[in-house]
Amino acid sequence: MISEKMRPLVANNSVIRVMFEEGKRLASIYGAENVYDFSLGNPNVPAPKEVNEAIVETLMEEESTFVHGYMSNAGYEDVRATIADSLNQRFGTAFHQNNILMTVGAASGLNVILKTILNPGDQVIAFAPYFVEYGGYVRNYDGELVVVSPNTVDFQPNLEEFVEKINEKTKAVIINTPNNPTGVVYSDATLTRLGEILREKEKEFGTDIVLISDEPYRELAYDGVEVPYVTKYYANTVVCYSYSKSLSLPGERIGYLVIPDEMKDSAEVFTAATIANRVNGCVNAPSLMQRVIKRCIEKGASVNLEAYDRNRNRLYEGLRECGFTCIKPEGAFYLFVKSPVPDEKEFCATAQKYNLLLVPGSSFACPGYVRIAYCVSYEQIERSMPAFEKLAQEYKLK
Ligand code: PLP
Repeated sequence: MISEKMRPLVANNSVIRVMFEEGKRLASIYGAENVYDFSLGNPNVPAPKEVNEAIVETLMEEESTFVHGYMSNAGYEDVRATIADSLNQRFGTAFHQNNILMTVGAASGLNVILKTILNPGDQVIAFAPYFVEYGGYVRNYDGELVVVSPNTVDFQPNLEEFVEKINEKTKAVIINTPNNPTGVVYSDATLTRLGEILREKEKEFGTDIVLISDEPYRELAYDGVEVPYVTKYYANTVVCYSYSKSLSLPGERIGYLVIPDEMKDSAEVFTAATIANRVNGCVNAPSLMQRVIKRCIEKGASVNLEAYDRNRNRLYEGLRECGFTCIKPEGAFYLFVKSPVPDEKEFCATAQKYNLLLVPGSSFACPGYVRIAYCVSYEQIERSMPAFEKLAQEYKLK
């Protein structure tokens, strides 16, 4: 029954999801407290209290047919205007409501913009390591994902190779900062150079290239590090944002796209993206959550950064004491640790003997590394330390 296009997707069903299932299986054997599942980027920090308040207030104070009804496929105008104002205050931009398109989270936002701009055979560049779903999203619209190999020194994008990989078929480039899986924040210098390269290449090939900034982790940045706003570096930028991580609402499916005025044919792109949102089958982003987001912005709801930061420091220090190597992440909630053996899948299998569930870097096109998601309880991190020590001993790291 299933289509040819679905077949490879079924065959390569996400390693992360498979691991999540394995975690549940191990928990049923050893007890949940003895299984250290670091596989999934599912926030463990509860949504800020303002979220529940906003849900209750919306339901009590707003008209039922309005809250649960259809609205413009781009989303409620007042919600979009509130988001635009908030971005302008925080980043010195000049957006208005017709730059903001409400989406069903970042996954849907990426699909909407790719559907809007891709013709069959167009290429989309991503920098390894990258979020594994990009490949599927690009293939949804018969595009081809082109991967730039990782820069394993500091995990900023490998811009030398990037220059070589851009050609007349390049329609888009996806970046993700703060990054999943490395936790790296792309620097001002990186984004400045990236913008220069794209402008040069547009000129060289007489084409338009869209920079898609996938940034669900924007607010998860530690030690006061600045996460530059990408539209300032390159005019043809579309920002893809999600509240899944910043407000711990991944199941609610709410986010937005920013399509700035500076972008070429901006108004036409916005209209096309609004229609793409509808014909993709989403129609519009969840109405109640849109209303809730407006109230949350007005209430100043924000992520509990301290909880993740505490996890980050404990795990980073603990792993280093065991003898593991990894750069200290500045954002998101992942550590990208070097595997002590070249085949990191073998390393993950060994880790599993100690009930440690880690994701192989090859799932992010970066073999030789493993991802550890630290959006888990602090207690899990504490309890897992003896298991990491035994794992390190098995590889004689100390
Ligand atoms: N992009 C990246 C880099 C992610 O890590 C994720 C989720 O983990 C997504 C997009 C999808 O987020 P959403 O839940 O908003 O669809």
